[in-house]
Amino acid sequence: YLSVSSATSSPSLATFPDGDRDRAINLDHGDPTMYERFWQQEGDKATIVIPGWQSMSYFSDIGNLCWFLEPEFARQVLRLHKIVGNAVTENRHIVVGTGSTQLFQAVLYALASQDSEEPVSVVSAAPYYSSYQAITECLKSGLYKWEGDARSFAKEGRFIELVTSPNNPDGFLRDSVLNRSGGVLVHDFAYYWPQYTPITSSADYDIMLFTVSKTTGHAGMRIGWALVKDREIAKRMVKYIELNSIGVSKDSQLRAAKVLKVVCDSCESSSNTTESLFEFAYQLMVERWQNLRVAVKHSGMFSLPEFSPGFCKFTGRIFEPLPAFAWLKCEEPIEDCESFLRSNKILTRGGRHFGVGPQYVRISLLDRDDNFDLFVERLSSIRKDNLYQH
Ligand code: PMP
Repeated sequence: YLSVSSATSSPSLATFPDGDRDRAINLDHGDPTMYERFWQQEGDKATIVIPGWQSMSYFSDIGNLCWFLEPEFARQVLRLHKIVGNAVTENRHIVVGTGSTQLFQAVLYALASQDSEEPVSVVSAAPYYSSYQAITECLKSGLYKWEGDARSFAKEGRFIELVTSPNNPDGFLRDSVLNRSGGVLVHDFAYYWPQYTPITSSADYDIMLFTVSKTTGHAGMRIGWALVKDREIAKRMVKYIELNSIGVSKDSQLRAAKVLKVVCDSCESSSNTTESLFEFAYQLMVERWQNLRVAVKHSGMFSLPEFSPGFCKFTGRIFEPLPAFAWLKCEEPIEDCESFLRSNKILTRGGRHFGVGPQYVRISLLDRDDNFDLFVERLSSIRKDNLYQH
């Protein structure tokens, strides 16, 4: 009954034989493999060749505060923000990181006081991105301490509030919830791109994190960047990356520069035959969210967040947010949504990882077409009337 994926039926890299329709579908991680098809279509446009003698030195730009930043990568980052209009780049330092995961750790180090008795508190409004807690706690550092949900945070003293907008896992746009002094805001803009949400304004905050993982789909390149206003904070972030990995892979930065260049070129090209990366991903997300909402309705056992439309200055379109994850709620009588879906061979990440209850799960919408389509089909067939038959 569900017509899934008419426009998405071209071959993907990993196709499964038809007899494999009972396989488990793993949508736990936000692995952005749906972008492979775009880059296949681009052919050799983003291919680079690195001779054996190139990129050997530790150093990239010794005159720059971030001495391991490849100038061409920095140029393409600035160009992309200018084209999309999602962040102010003037009077900022760019710090490159091994994914924004490393930049988050660099921020914790940079904002912690080395000579304070008390660790700085780290908070984010629940549901929050599950890695913040895991990363903050993993080394049992005395410099910073995970304090959980920002909405119930009442401790005295310095704090860092992580503001993820659009939010992972629920997709809503967010502002800081702690309106008081003594804190530093870190804006995680991994999903502030026009395939996921209308670009309503150019973000203008002190510390902003971005990643190629969710922008172009190149998660395996492990490249992220921070736009940082304060020179001292940027310097301390650079110091952390120096201590942690003596810089960031030049090969990856050069490849990221090329990939971002192709994205920028595709946005600027006026020809009808070239589709921009953002247009490709937007169309796919529209179709995926439509199919998902139909399946949820047909099933009658789940619910999804509802979003208000906004005007996107980049595309000139009005549209509702199309988050990279579905934040699915199981309706009664199901109490543990993650194990319920697992019994139906759909692997997701349960609400507890994000600081809320087990009736919620997060489901990646960025997987390859065949996996996503099978997931939607399976979800729509989970119905109350079938539930007690076996
Ligand atoms: N922040 C958020 C909100 C994310 O969802 C992710 C990726 N899941 C990251 C940061 C980490 O991205 P990266 O691959 O650049 O380390």
